[in-house]
Amino acid sequence: MPALLEMNDVTYTYPDGTRALGGMSLTIGANERVALLGPNGAGKTTAVLHLAGVLTPSTGVVKINDTIITKKNIAQLRSHIGIVFQDPDDQLFMPTVGEDVAFGPHNLGLDNIAERVEQALATVGLRHVADRHPHHLSYGQRRRAAIAGVLAMEPKILVLDEPTSNLDPASRRELTDIISKLTATIIIVTHDLPYAHQLCERSLIVDSGRIVADGPTTELLANDALLAHHRLELPYLFAPRAVPAATRQLPRPRSQPT
Ligand code: ADP
Repeated sequence: MPALLEMNDVTYTYPDGTRALGGMSLTIGANERVALLGPNGAGKTTAVLHLAGVLTPSTGVVKINDTIITKKNIAQLRSHIGIVFQDPDDQLFMPTVGEDVAFGPHNLGLDNIAERVEQALATVGLRHVADRHPHHLSYGQRRRAAIAGVLAMEPKILVLDEPTSNLDPASRRELTDIISKLTATIIIVTHDLPYAHQLCERSLIVDSGRIVADGPTTELLANDALLAHHRLELPYLFAPRAVPAATRQLPRPRSQPT
């Protein structure tokens, strides 16, 4: 599969001297759904900030579509990748949900903003709240509004940072249903191992700023020694089973997300 995203032996040291990436290499192909797993401080966020061109490697290269990200082309390449941060309240700041979703495409100078907003809100089941203030929505709705804001820019690659944090089980299921229908290449940064199992065929385990395991999620999560070694734990009674990808879709929700 041709690579859409690549990191080749990337190291990164923060200005205070903390070495966050210690030679990270990874390849992600178009339309893959990949989980980035790892303990706190492993380097997941730092890696994502490199993929988005927010941070520049100390050494090594990051490529999107076979093009090395440089200071010159970053503005253009950045439109390929959309990041949904963990806290939706960091992302929502306009007076209405519709205006918030329009902000990104407007900022990029894209066409057909009204259609993009309509489509993105429909995808996340929030058309009916387009005129409401984002902070009057539930937490689950705010997370979906933040996702809509990124989807409206139609990025090729979507990165979701801890998408299930603070969600109740119903909101979590609604989000699963939404993500499973998206066609973009998706990277899910998470501690929620069952969620990675549900949505991602493939997982990468990050520790000490490197990729320490790369393989089918079912296999990685069945490897107790590997998980324990990297401070990853499955919830009580959860046993990853090999489920064919075609049947891993969740059943449709009983009602449309509200
Ligand atoms: P993760 O997302 O896996 O929790 P991070 O990428 O946030 O890991 O952090 C990797 C390492 O870099 C950790 O040691 C963390 O303390 C350090 N780090 C993260 N951000 C900064 C920063 N702005 N300045 C200095 N060190 C940082």
